[in-house]
Parts: sequence; C-alpha cells; structure tokens
Amino acid sequence: MMDARSAWTRHCVRCGGGLRPQHRDGRERPVCVDCGAVVYIDPKVACGVLVMRRREVLLVQRRNDPGRGLWCLPCGFVDADEAPEAAAAREAFEETGLRITIGALVGAYHYRDDPRGAGILLVYRGQAARGVAQAYDDAAAVGWFALDGLPPLSHAPHRLAIADAARRTRRPLPERTDSH
Ligand SMILES: [Zn+2]
Repeated sequence: MMDARSAWTRHCVRCGGGLRPQHRDGRERPVCVDCGAVVYIDPKVACGVLVMRRREVLLVQRRNDPGRGLWCLPCGFVDADEAPEAAAAREAFEETGLRITIGALVGAYHYRDDPRGAGILLVYRGQAARGVAQAYDDAAAVGWFALDGLPPLSHAPHRLAIADAARRTRRPLPERTDSH
C-alpha cells in the first residue's frame, strides 16, 4: 500500500516554495513554508471501457509500465477539460482502433495500487462498431477473452468491474413451460 506522502509534490504549486507536513483540515497535508498554501493531493481520474462480444470481453496487453505485459480493459487518464465518457471512447479508439459507443456506467472503483498515484477508475459499458480490433498506441496486443478464462490483469479494479458487469448480464434461466 502506498504511503500517502509518496503522492506529494516536492514544491508548492503556487509559488514553488518548499513543503512541510502540517495538520490541516483533519489530517496531515503538505503546506508551503513560503506562502502558506495548503496543497491538496487529488485522486487521478481514469476511465475504462468494457466491451462484450457474446461472453467475451475485449482486453489490451500493456506495452508500458505499470503492468507491462499484463492485460487490462482499454483505459487511460481523463484530461482536465474532457468529459469522462469522451475520454473512455478516445482511449478505446487509441488502443484498439475500434469506434466505441459509450453506454452505462458499470461502476466507480477507488485504487491505490498504481505508482503514479491513487485514483478513481470509472468503467463504462461500450458497444463496438464493426471492425477488427488491432493494437495501437500503448497496447502491445488486443484480444477477446472468455469471462472464465481471463489472462493476468494489471489492475485489481479491472477484474472487479468485469465481475460486476458479468453478474448483471447473466441471464436468468428460462422458465419451465412443460407441465410435468
Ligand atoms: Zn507557496
């Protein structure tokens, strides 16, 4: 688990001064020794897309760390001026070449296992346009995987999101219509 201070910046974002931990607003936070600004360390916001084809889910193999060689949903960080749904569609297109229509939110997942900082992952259902998925950008490969045969995943929240979506799409057994 990450130490909270590992996410701190080295310098004040307002004046560039040094930071010293002080107790502010109920917990220890970095405070500038020069201008007194309290630096609030916000979570990063990431988006992922869960595209299903029958009982298979679309995954990409990560070309870069963290988790290089492992698999994950098409995903990436949201830019500050970008809606999360737009970021989800953009990342999915950049990594797979597929145009994705973003659907319902599967869930919001807090994570602390990324060395770039703790964050919140928003996972959406996605519908892929016709086409063959191919690996681009920071994806080394793409593939469709059965829900009971997933490869090693890079981030725990992705597995949670896939499980949540699978639970919801599981069809109830057909009712018996015979009268025996
Ligand atoms: Zn300052």
